[in-house]
Amino acid sequence: MIPYGRQFISEQDIEAVVDVLRSDFLTQGPAIPAFEQAIAQYCGVAHAIAVSNATAALHIACLALDVGRGDFVWTSPNTFVASANCARYCGASVDFVDVDPKTYNMCPEKLAEKLKEAEKAGTLPKVVIPVHFAGTPCDMARIHTLSEQYGFKIIEDASHAIGSCYEDSRIGDCQFSDIAVFSFHPVKIITSGEGGMATTRSPDLARRLQLYRSHGITREPSELEDVTQGAWYYEQQMLGYNYRLTDLQAALGLSQLQNIEAWITRRHEILAQYDAAFADLPVTRPSYPGNVRSSLHLYPIQVADRRRVFEGMRAAGILVNVHYIPVHTQPDFQKLGFAWGDFPQSEDYYKSAISLPMFASLSDAQCSDVIKTLRDLLQ
Ligand SMILES: *Cc1c(COP(=O)(O)O)cnc(C)c1O
Repeated sequence: MIPYGRQFISEQDIEAVVDVLRSDFLTQGPAIPAFEQAIAQYCGVAHAIAVSNATAALHIACLALDVGRGDFVWTSPNTFVASANCARYCGASVDFVDVDPKTYNMCPEKLAEKLKEAEKAGTLPKVVIPVHFAGTPCDMARIHTLSEQYGFKIIEDASHAIGSCYEDSRIGDCQFSDIAVFSFHPVKIITSGEGGMATTRSPDLARRLQLYRSHGITREPSELEDVTQGAWYYEQQMLGYNYRLTDLQAALGLSQLQNIEAWITRRHEILAQYDAAFADLPVTRPSYPGNVRSSLHLYPIQVADRRRVFEGMRAAGILVNVHYIPVHTQPDFQKLGFAWGDFPQSEDYYKSAISLPMFASLSDAQCSDVIKTLRDLLQ
């Protein structure tokens, strides 16, 4: 069996977790700030806030930007449902901007057109959430320029994209956004079991994210409203959640981060093997803008008879997958009034998309097996 993505756990990772198990703190100990600082340093950003998963990070990112009832939040239909649900958790309305057929990312021209219409209708979004699909960064400079023109905030859903670069900026440095969000689910680039991180340049947003992560509670003497109480005293200053990461998870994430560059290099080797092998097959391969480095979370191709290819690959023990069913077509989104046909580029892409195995520990022999199986199915 070859999955489409999987984690790699080294002896060093195991030792890092065991060390925490033998220590004084299983949660809220020193591993969490160490992981946060390492991610902040890797991304070149001032603040990183660790949370229990990227879904939680997206939720508190919306809250930190004051998303609430009556607000609109726009994202891409070609994503996991969490990119859209975060706005719904806050009582806001979701809408989508269709994708570019080459990158499968939110199309900046379509965004510009939709903003123009929304301005006339008085329904401009408060927040736009571009998703760096498969690790390929969105056209952030264009989206950022539009944000200044129309006054919306930007949350990057960078769940696929730790280690990706856009021009000379690393995804997560928030050069073109307010907050960026990473996922450390086991299929992603690095893992902490479950886990997520929000990064920001803003000290104010960082503080709000920290409060929302942990019940809205502070113990900081300088932040308390009532300064007459003793050392036991804490205050709940807003309605927050328990979205904390554990030290066990943070230690694993920190240990994994040490390998990220080697793993992304290995993903690029696999990309080169796939690209060379499929050049003469009836396959649409992913294409990458010249000004980005993708972390290559996924290798999504398009084929004419997707169901037959999907079933053929699965029957051969190659657990291909499909990313993504357009979010607006999910039954729970159709209840909100969305329908098939609303975002045709995302739907066209979805109808022929299939994700081949892509992960750092995929061996050359496994890679050849994937190539041969696909060749046999397509010839
Ligand atoms: C995985 C993923 C998420 C959710 O991440 P979790 O850490 O599992 O909550 C959100 N958005 C995208 C695009 C993802 O791929």
